[in-house]
Amino acid sequence: MRLSQFHLHTTKETPADAEVVSHQLMLRAGMIRKLAAGVYTWSPLGLRVLRKVERVVREEMTNAGAIEVLMPSIQPRELWEETGRWEKFGGQLLKIKDRKDSWYAYGPTHEEVVTDFARQELSSYKQLPVNFFQIQTKFRDEIRPRFGVMRAREFLMKDAYSFHANEDDLGREYRNMYDTYGRIFTRLGLKFRAVVADTGAIGGAMSHEFHVLADSGEDALAFSTGSDYAANVERAEAAAPGPRGAATEAMRKVDTPTQKTCEDVAALLGIPLSRTVKSVAVIGVDPENNPRFVLALVRGDHAVNEIKLAKLPGLTEYRLATEDEIREHLDASPGFLGPIAPAKSILIVADRDVAAMADFVVGANEDGFHIAGVNWGRDLPEPDLVADIRNVVEGDASPDGQGTLGIARGIEVGHVFQLGGKYAQAMGMTVLDENGRAATPVMGCYGIGVSRIVAAAIEQNHDANGIIWPDAIAPWQVAVCVINPKGVEAVNEAAQALLRDLIAAGVDAVLDDRGLRPGAMFADIELIGIPHRIVVSERGLQAGTFEYRHRRASEAEQLDRDTAISRVT
Ligand code: ATP
Ligand code: MG
Ligand code: MG
Ligand code: MG
Repeated sequence: MRLSQFHLHTTKETPADAEVVSHQLMLRAGMIRKLAAGVYTWSPLGLRVLRKVERVVREEMTNAGAIEVLMPSIQPRELWEETGRWEKFGGQLLKIKDRKDSWYAYGPTHEEVVTDFARQELSSYKQLPVNFFQIQTKFRDEIRPRFGVMRAREFLMKDAYSFHANEDDLGREYRNMYDTYGRIFTRLGLKFRAVVADTGAIGGAMSHEFHVLADSGEDALAFSTGSDYAANVERAEAAAPGPRGAATEAMRKVDTPTQKTCEDVAALLGIPLSRTVKSVAVIGVDPENNPRFVLALVRGDHAVNEIKLAKLPGLTEYRLATEDEIREHLDASPGFLGPIAPAKSILIVADRDVAAMADFVVGANEDGFHIAGVNWGRDLPEPDLVADIRNVVEGDASPDGQGTLGIARGIEVGHVFQLGGKYAQAMGMTVLDENGRAATPVMGCYGIGVSRIVAAAIEQNHDANGIIWPDAIAPWQVAVCVINPKGVEAVNEAAQALLRDLIAAGVDAVLDDRGLRPGAMFADIELIGIPHRIVVSERGLQAGTFEYRHRRASEAEQLDRDTAISRVT
């Protein structure tokens, strides 16, 4: 490949609307261009990286025994009604209507579709176990698409779904996928951590998330310094003892040293507060209809964060409620909020979807406000408060009683679930067991954010000059840079011969024959993150040397041809 025949479009200026470094660098390198909120075109350069991530994922999934399929992204409403998710999935589900007035969803995930496929394909236990995977575009109407492809609305996911005769076999495959994910993220050259996670809107019994560690990550991970315990913070809270939520206990524990007055919190949240509080608002139930109600407590007739809350996904009701009503809801979810003092309440208690939009997840009781958790990195209004909470959480004992708790930030790049019989049951899928009786298979599902990985890799691998790709996903591993290609023909020939030899040796190399001045050429090659650079120049040829530099090295080296080649093969 020759860059003079390729399409590169780089810029020096940092785009003003890009908050995180991966988004900035992807725009500057010209990897993506925005079409609409959370919807991006992948340029030829960006696509090379995306395809490399895809290839690693596909190879490892195939090696692990999964079989590739491709399911439609447009999914009929009737299918989603079979599982009840047409209503329950909430606002992330993009619903569209065809000319015959039939409704469809643009698939945010494929449990329904794969179960429909499986109920047509699988009829006997002898066909189990089986694991189908695809690499497919998903659409989720995220409340706050941001950070470029990191939290997009349209994005590329690898999703896999396995079917088993029994829970033991599901457990075996879950472990197999867990190990496969470890191999995938290792091959991609990423520093990652697996944590126990909440099962969220997908549901199921057991679940782990894989996080790429990065300070810009939207998730907070709790891990023990004294054991292998690691969890998504939401989950660490839920693991604390107590009735149903558990979250309450965790809140109490975390809160005690940081009790804030109403005024403190209201000021931090930028929410107006007066002392005469009389009523409470019920905002709705969460999309799964579980008893974790999403509540917003308001003062008088002034709803806190009215606009934000009005957009809650799965919102079934939005109005002021009486105190009796709120107590009824609280009775249905014992312990979640703890004792409520409507006279001093403000806040939002959240499930995952709400947490995704609330800046703070806060609990209230008679004494005032208690901060239980924070969406790290999301437009936090008051850095000191974050530090404050962080200090309190860090250093506490772990949920498993060993060591002390540390907090790291992460970007969720993979998620494995044991779903059990949920979808097969809802959709009436059975297979004949050994005794010829109809039995419901159990399922697992396994996702990887293929497009998100591209951004996550940049968060971990960059410097002031641009991206530094891990070799496995670099658009090219080596740039052969020709100084003054219109000058001496022998220089061109030497560069082309070097390119041919590299490619023959299985190295993904590109020739930069654009004829830019060295400074501008090197700046581009550094910005787009090519890990190895070999410069071919007239002076070098005369001396019998090629200039080699690794993207992370501080100095270039003058090497003979064979040594230069050996550095990149
Ligand atoms: P998040 O917590 O970040 O919203 P999720 O838990 O909703 O993600 P899953 O349903 O577990 O996502 O989907 C599997 C994977 O798809 C995630 O681990 C993540 O890597 C990726 N993914 C999910 N939502 C997005 C998005 N909006 N943009 C890019 N990738 C995404
Ligand atoms: Mg999500
Ligand atoms: Mg998640
Ligand atoms: Mg997830």
